[in-house]
Amino acid sequence: MNAAVIVAAGRGTRMGLERNKVLAPLCGEPVIARTVRAFERTGWFDGGIVVVTGACDLCEMKRILADAGLHAQVVLGGADRQESVCRGLAATNPEAQYVAIHDGARPLVTAEVIARTLESAKKYGSGVAAVPLKDTVKRVNEGGVVVDTPPRDALRAVQTPQTFEAELIRRAHAAYALGERATDDAALAERMGVEVRLTEGDVENIKLTTPEDMLLARQVILRREGQKEEKPMVRIGHGYDVHRLTEDRKLILCGVEIPYTLGLLGHSDADVALHALMDALLGAAALGDIGKLFPDSADEFAGISSLELLRQVKLHLAAAGYDVVNIDATILAQAPKLAPYREQMRANIARELQIDVLRVSVKATTEEHLGFTGSGEGMAVHAIALLERADN
Ligand code: MG
Repeated sequence: MNAAVIVAAGRGTRMGLERNKVLAPLCGEPVIARTVRAFERTGWFDGGIVVVTGACDLCEMKRILADAGLHAQVVLGGADRQESVCRGLAATNPEAQYVAIHDGARPLVTAEVIARTLESAKKYGSGVAAVPLKDTVKRVNEGGVVVDTPPRDALRAVQTPQTFEAELIRRAHAAYALGERATDDAALAERMGVEVRLTEGDVENIKLTTPEDMLLARQVILRREGQKEEKPMVRIGHGYDVHRLTEDRKLILCGVEIPYTLGLLGHSDADVALHALMDALLGAAALGDIGKLFPDSADEFAGISSLELLRQVKLHLAAAGYDVVNIDATILAQAPKLAPYREQMRANIARELQIDVLRVSVKATTEEHLGFTGSGEGMAVHAIALLERADN
């Protein structure tokens, strides 16, 4: 026969909560209800499950467990954890041969972790859940100066459940009821000279101590219960294009015809800015590039307005389920000055993409007379685009 003692008497001071942290809701259910259910549903605790809590939480604890359809017995705790466990042990069925002691603030404990501690207790007298350390641990003096670095391989972070032969852990608590306090039950058994066995715990079996722990626990529960957060998939894309400047061509940037002595050379209207932007959009959706969608060799695209091509890109994105979050383009040109045309450029793009103009950014810069843009031989444009899709 097995029994369990779940300690839920602590205050949530580090949690920034005034009330006992195990009463706080986690994914719509109080933490303690989740913890108790993890034990009840195993069906292994025929000797009863005892929840130990403080006087001020006694009524609420009973109500929460009753509302959740749980059968654990609620008893009054003591002045500290050790005394609370002692009172919990006293309330367990005297015929129980094994007792699992668990923190009420570890609701993510799995049946597998519980089973390993129970099996170990049956075989060796004790089974304490533990995990290897990820961080190196330093021992420090009072001034915060490192004294030594224990080898990490020999260290374990100890969790609960800590499961023992009932007789053994009762004797340990009785022996040290008035002595120096221990931070866990295994320490009392160790003090008696008993060999304590560790079993494999679970990194997700965290003790909810800080608000960040609650966030983490929420993610674990959502994953375990197969629910996905309503989180859109976002994707980023980059585009780059260059066109040569030449005489007898119009200069068209983002669909705006700009008065200048030179224009951009190309198969379409050679709108280098929209070309880079379209490649960014297509790149974000992994739909290829404008060379693939609108080949140079096709007559139908000769002299076509790139605004019309952008409209078609928008249709491709929509068909694939993507919405445009925002775009940003940088035009590299020595001349002419583009600032006077910027608002019209943004408006053109926003219209074709059917998004608010605040989501569209167009910038221009010179390259200080350096390179082919600096010499006025051509113009180049970099663009990035962010897309989102509702389903995952
Ligand atoms: Mg081009």
